[in-house]
Amino acid sequence: MRHIAAGQRIIGVMPLDLLVFGPHPDDIEIGMGATVALHARRGDRVGLVDLTRGELGSNGTPDERVAEAAEASAVLGAALRLNLGLPDGGLSADDEGQLDRIVRVVRAHRPRAIAMPYWEDRHPDHGAASRLLRQAIFRAGLRRVVTADDPWRPEWVCHYFINDGATPSFVVDVSDTYELKRQALACHRTQFTPAGGGAAATRLTSPIFTQLVESRDAQFGALAGVRWAEGFVVREPIARPHLFKSTADAAVEPVQADTGARRA
Ligand SMILES: [Zn+2]
Repeated sequence: MRHIAAGQRIIGVMPLDLLVFGPHPDDIEIGMGATVALHARRGDRVGLVDLTRGELGSNGTPDERVAEAAEASAVLGAALRLNLGLPDGGLSADDEGQLDRIVRVVRAHRPRAIAMPYWEDRHPDHGAASRLLRQAIFRAGLRRVVTADDPWRPEWVCHYFINDGATPSFVVDVSDTYELKRQALACHRTQFTPAGGGAAATRLTSPIFTQLVESRDAQFGALAGVRWAEGFVVREPIARPHLFKSTADAAVEPVQADTGARRA
């Protein structure tokens, strides 16, 4: 996995369709692993960016966690996975250096959509990451914030859930890629199934955590009438072309209205 030094221009990087940010190396998989796999399967170029190496976590070394993230990324079919090496426990929207690193990543990859954690979560890092990312993504679109690359604003930003959920703005049917989410989560062995006598029991090592993730995805799926779904929140209303559920005929020409003139 590549690490990006502060102030370094990211040279020769690919444009991406979807850019996903996570606070720690396993959060993206927890919140939207199956959606990542779905986009990759569609042929979209998906980039995953972990903000920290999770060095404050109770189990696993930073190197182990980065290696596990790379393995999970391959399972999901992501085009790349970066780790920015920002301080675990120290993410801050007031830190100019952290903002700059994220602005550069967004501008270098020019994604259509960005996904990041929902802004309310019991883990303080997750909320802090969301605030930091919101500020940085806004700055990435400002002409007067000058970096090596041109300003870039994605079509929109979608928020996924890690610990705490909320009513989603929409859900994505991930029934066809849910098994890949499970396989990607299983790559994070130091977090979910740590070996050895020195391993600490945490929320993640309990089977209840898998239950939290899978029951949420099953509930969103059931509400939408599919087996599995991952939920997302967007800050703006979603504009639709009409009141019909299917958008397949959205571009159909309007039918000529009968004015009743012929009956006259
Ligand atoms: Zn986390």
